[in-house]
Amino acid sequence: MKVAKFGGSSVANAAQFQKVAKIVMADPERKVIVVSAPGKRFKEDIKMTDMLISLAEQVKEGGDTTGPVRQIVDRYASIANELGVDSAILERIEEDLNDLIVSLHNEEPTRLLDAIKASGEDNNAKLMAAYLSQLGVEAHYVNPKEAGIFVTDEPGNARVLPESYKKIAELRNRTGVLVVPGFFGYSTEGKVITFSRGGSDITGSILAAGVKADLYENFTDVDSIYSVNPMIVPNPKEIKELTYREMRELSYAGFSVFHDEALEPVYKMGIPVCVKNTNNPQAPGTYIVAKRNHNDSPVVGIASDDGFCNIHVDKYLMNREIGFGRKLLHVLEDEGISYEHTPSGIDNISVILREHQFDEDVEKRVFGRIQRELDVDSVYVERGLALIMVVGEGMNQSVGVAAKATEAFARANVNLEMINQGSSEVSMMFGVKADGVKKAVKSLYNVYFNEMMTISYSKI
Ligand code: ASP
Repeated sequence: MKVAKFGGSSVANAAQFQKVAKIVMADPERKVIVVSAPGKRFKEDIKMTDMLISLAEQVKEGGDTTGPVRQIVDRYASIANELGVDSAILERIEEDLNDLIVSLHNEEPTRLLDAIKASGEDNNAKLMAAYLSQLGVEAHYVNPKEAGIFVTDEPGNARVLPESYKKIAELRNRTGVLVVPGFFGYSTEGKVITFSRGGSDITGSILAAGVKADLYENFTDVDSIYSVNPMIVPNPKEIKELTYREMRELSYAGFSVFHDEALEPVYKMGIPVCVKNTNNPQAPGTYIVAKRNHNDSPVVGIASDDGFCNIHVDKYLMNREIGFGRKLLHVLEDEGISYEHTPSGIDNISVILREHQFDEDVEKRVFGRIQRELDVDSVYVERGLALIMVVGEGMNQSVGVAAKATEAFARANVNLEMINQGSSEVSMMFGVKADGVKKAVKSLYNVYFNEMMTISYSKI
């Protein structure tokens, strides 16, 4: 049994719906289908989810919602009409949306936003089920509540609750193709709560784990996951296979093809994932598995992401001071800031954060407390940093991989602000100024992928 998730671009218009139906009908094992809301049809297009976010703003401000609702319904109509789906479904979508707006009038803004956002995938799943039925496939729309997807009450950032899985397992007993909307679940109080953006991947993964699928297929618009961002290096090497750990590291640092939180449920159950292309389903895609053979190259991919800052803290004899690190992180905890990494020296420690959490007001408060409570010699922040991750399970058994990385940075004439290697040795992380990131990534790619044949890594 397979769970197949189709992302926004795979369900953006009628032609894409037809491709999805063909894929579903080509394999009777594809029993659970998860759909995103309609994505972009062309570069300047607006995603349905973004249209819904604007609608929620209007509702919150008490503005006239007739125009935005019309636009949203028209988007579904352009799909339904071209496919010849019964127009009753469009009336239902419009009615449901208007009822939703009325019912949300006194709701808190975050809940209102989640309920409206979720309708994008919800209506698309109804439409997909109707289209498959019209083609003669036994297809049923299944709401996430009925499926058993229960989540924490964190609007826009839900996490699945463990009790979900028992109920989801019951889906195995249902007949036909089950079409489930992605991106949201229900709190135990029955409220609609969405995952973070791109979260339909998470729904697919939860369902795959819950029904104990043999495979979780994630359909998108590329033939495979690439070893580096194709916007930085044209035509990069395709990745055929990578491990859950490698995927986690790559998606953390910018590989947006698969949501980084989506791995957890399938990883725990050992269910393989295959990332495939709706526009070219014959292509084998990329498999994400527990173990792979990494003899050919110790490095599988290079990822980069910007928007980081680094807080530097110096204090003479820091290494002797018991509890220094805890006290420092406690100040951040009190501010509700999550940190990413903490490389340290003898008398200094750096804390790497996502920069959006650290505006000037927060900086003032945090630095004031650090000065007063930890009596440090100096504290300052370096903004505008990017992180580059060189990822590969084979690295921990190969000598010379780090040497090649530093050589690549030197060749690109990019200064290293920070180096960090986690104890897992699945990745090496480098901090650089954001304006040097592209040069550095190109140079790293050259070293690991173009010159690979001439490098001899010795195995330990
Ligand atoms: N439609 C949602 C978004 O744009 C979720 C998804 O597509 O996975 O973030």
